[in-house]
Amino acid sequence: MLTGKHLIAGEWLASAQTFQSSPAHGPARTFSAGTPSHVDAACEAAEAAFPDYSALSNADRSAFLNRIADEIEARGAEITEIGTQETGLPAARLEGERGRTVGQLRLFATHILSNGWLDRRHDPALPDRQPAPRPDIKLIQRPVGPVAVFGASNFPLAFSVAGGDTASALAAGCPVVVKGHSAHPGTGEIVAQAIDAAIKASGVPAGTFSLVQGGKREVGEALVQNPFIKAVGFTGSLAGGRALFNLCAARPEPIPFFGELGSVNPMFLLPAALAARGEAIAKGWAGSLTLGAGQFCTNPGIAVVIDGPDADAFVEAAKEAVGAVGPQTMLTDGIAEAFRAGRDRVAKGTGVRSVLTSTCDMRNATPYLFEVSGADWLADHSLAEEVFGPLGLIVRVRHASEMQAIARSLQGQLTCTLHLEPDDMDLARLLMPLLERKAGRILANGFPTGVEVVDAQVHGGPYPASTNFGATSVGTLSIRRWLRPVAYQNMPDALLPSAWSA
Ligand code: NAP
Repeated sequence: MLTGKHLIAGEWLASAQTFQSSPAHGPARTFSAGTPSHVDAACEAAEAAFPDYSALSNADRSAFLNRIADEIEARGAEITEIGTQETGLPAARLEGERGRTVGQLRLFATHILSNGWLDRRHDPALPDRQPAPRPDIKLIQRPVGPVAVFGASNFPLAFSVAGGDTASALAAGCPVVVKGHSAHPGTGEIVAQAIDAAIKASGVPAGTFSLVQGGKREVGEALVQNPFIKAVGFTGSLAGGRALFNLCAARPEPIPFFGELGSVNPMFLLPAALAARGEAIAKGWAGSLTLGAGQFCTNPGIAVVIDGPDADAFVEAAKEAVGAVGPQTMLTDGIAEAFRAGRDRVAKGTGVRSVLTSTCDMRNATPYLFEVSGADWLADHSLAEEVFGPLGLIVRVRHASEMQAIARSLQGQLTCTLHLEPDDMDLARLLMPLLERKAGRILANGFPTGVEVVDAQVHGGPYPASTNFGATSVGTLSIRRWLRPVAYQNMPDALLPSAWSA
């Protein structure tokens, strides 16, 4: 049952100001709009909860994470019902995303039991060392304090209220204040109800989690500037993320902003692969490009090919495969408008030719394909920017060295992909050192949508893919964003954190 309220430290609070949800179908609902005073109350409660929550044993925090997963599963049907209404996503997608969300919570519940994440190091004292004795030094990772999380519009579950940022921060021992995304406030509230139930059942401090529903920009601004907040997790637009990143840097005490902002995820089709499998690659690309109306941060928006008859055949096959995909509902009216604006920007680029055009209006997206020469692409930086939606740009280069020039000129990416055969190895060896400097994940003979949540995953990359090239927002390494190493010199055992000897 929806309340339309904020969850602040165990209390469901209404506010005088409200906003209406804007579902793809079903009834619009009224929700309390967040204010800076809600943010302040939530952050104060998170700070008050920090000493007790961070001191819980790994086993207790693990049980708490598993309990959140159980509570989400118990509300599965309710989440799918409102989630499909609010986002327009099909039920199967939301059910799959729910599986990923509870899977992430359970992954972290297991991960923190092993202690490897604490990265404990010990240099014992050398009292007889000359010319001076060495002290005993022990290092262990400690939670940073309350963390702010911005729910993402495109993953209403897996990157939202109880998504990967929240799961990893709670696993690390950090209380979390979520700013809900106004695209799916009802879905967010039901997930917050699940966390609230888990907090009450587990005896965890009430301030460990709060959800402030969206509203005006001032809510997000107040959240990142609150002095109790020590780090921020964000997935969204380049403009919004950059604005919040700048606010974090301008604070009297600057804090890390882990933003995932945008990526075009280029694919490089090397000549032997293009000749041998061009049609199959085109079909696979069409599926990845249009999956979920192209609203994935790993959507492969650019395909680079060496011009010639094999490139012509690839373009034809891509046109046929992408053209077979019908209209899909986008997450919000604003995202649909931004998609059409991006389409118009690409279409007006110098030398850009339309391969597949369609019409789409309202909240619908139909796919588009364009092509351009490598020289024109290199001359127009705007063609390297993300279009959030099902739009592909084929870049026809003249030769292998122009393909390397494209790789060299890329901005930071979440992913880069090579399609290759054994005869392509020499060119692949030239591209690899370039791509390693550009992307968080490099794929061979695959498509980047569908991000595995595992220990070895990296979902990040140089700016603007992320604002912190050393971090990932997916996989167990993502817990490191919320930890800070502390060294203890000659410290009596009784004063060390209990995690040292766990
Ligand atoms: P967004 O506009 O960046 O908003 C994300 C969150 O940040 C929202 O909670 C928003 O609050 C807040 N926010 C944005 N700008 C802010 C500012 N200047 N000050 C304070 N808070 C701010 O992203 P979106 O709504 O999800 O989608 C819009 C566009 O983002 C899409 O068209 C797409 O281009 C891009 N996007 C990219 C990815 C990706 O993975 N790369 C994912 C999702 C979206 P309000 O809602 O209250 O404004």
